[in-house]
Amino acid sequence: MSTNLTRNGLALDAVSAGYGQALAIRDITLTVTPGEVVALLGRNGAGKSTTLKAVMGMLPLRGGQVLMDGDEISGRPVHARAGAGIGYVPEDRRIFTGLTVAENLESGRRPIEAGRDWTPDRLFDLFPNLAPARDRHAGQLSGGEQQMLALARTLMGNPRMLLLDEPSEGLAPVIVDALARVVKTLKQEGLGILLCEQNTSFTTKVADRAAIIESGSLQYEGSMGQLALDDAVRKRYLAV
Ligand code: ATP
Repeated sequence: MSTNLTRNGLALDAVSAGYGQALAIRDITLTVTPGEVVALLGRNGAGKSTTLKAVMGMLPLRGGQVLMDGDEISGRPVHARAGAGIGYVPEDRRIFTGLTVAENLESGRRPIEAGRDWTPDRLFDLFPNLAPARDRHAGQLSGGEQQMLALARTLMGNPRMLLLDEPSEGLAPVIVDALARVVKTLKQEGLGILLCEQNTSFTTKVADRAAIIESGSLQYEGSMGQLALDDAVRKRYLAV
């Protein structure tokens, strides 16, 4: 792996991880630089969520290492990886449904280190639908608003690298478009984003590069443009 890349952003170097005795991902090598959106694509059960959990420290590594800006973080607990600048939005969103939108945002606050200093007001500019819902309980929001809140809450931690697990899943097309605008804004601000999705309809709008995982191993890497032209790869590895 190029040492230049590992000094700048997130790098997975031959990462393996799994559950019980079984390995769910093997030898995953992948980088995400600041301002880059990388789509990790693959079918149901391919190993996408496991890859994000391994990066965030929710699963112990069975091999390889994870680096952030060149520092190995593989042995660190989850909160220390957040402290290293990594923000994670899991598939189940994990917002506090009994708290208001504003309280959810406060719950994500972390001291600013090197990232942007997000405040609730700045986040309400980025997510205009959340502003009028500031004092409503998160459990009363629509699925799309809850997804936006989950992302906004993670941004309150001022990450420099975002891990998003199937953010467009179950959302109406108009909400997916709004989410795409947010992702593009964050990219322009220099965040690196690793985005898991099962299909390419959202990722073609926002991603620079694609990596495809199947049965726990990376099978393809290329630009989103290359992937769009490669019918054979899409048919073989993706649900298209
Ligand atoms: P999905 O879109 O369904 O989340 P995915 O690509 O994210 O798919 P993973 O959730 O990473 O896939 O699952 C990879 C493999 O690990 C699958 O075979 C899955 O059954 C297995 N697996 C996932 N979570 C667990 C768990 N908690 N315990 C045991 N095996 C698991």
